[in-house]
Amino acid sequence: MTIAKEGSSPPVHEGGCLCGAVRFRIAGDPVSVAICHCTNCQRNTGSAFSVNVIFYKPEEYTIHGEPAIYDDVGDTGNIVRRVFCGTCGTPIESRSVFSAADYTVIKSGCFDNPSAFAPDSEVYCVTAMPWWLQGIAVPRYERFNTASISAEEDAAAKAAAGS
Ligand SMILES: [Zn+2]
Repeated sequence: MTIAKEGSSPPVHEGGCLCGAVRFRIAGDPVSVAICHCTNCQRNTGSAFSVNVIFYKPEEYTIHGEPAIYDDVGDTGNIVRRVFCGTCGTPIESRSVFSAADYTVIKSGCFDNPSAFAPDSEVYCVTAMPWWLQGIAVPRYERFNTASISAEEDAAAKAAAGS
């Protein structure tokens, strides 16, 4: 699917799914980057929330590959079309059918440069995780929390992995 218009060259953003079967390209600046705490986004992403990058009438939007589609029903009763990779399961896009012509909503994590999209708002806070609303202050690690694994477990895991 391609929606293209004549004119100047807006910023182009590319991304895709985990396995690479689905790739997309979208041109324009998002009108909003919203953390969504709705229960459908929680379940769809298998996480506490999704970060939705919302474009209004993008200059171009092209999907390469054959994404799978699931027509979800939002709490307003409207269909929310969820576009995802049928091979690796990565959620790519959620699209309210009533606004299909105007808004394109892409999950921030599937952009090649997700750090370009800092959230400007949080929606559906009514179902946000309580620990998120309270603000979390937990230890941060560059990668794994190796301190939580005992030396014995670590040695056993390395032996099992043959390293
Ligand atoms: Zn995939």
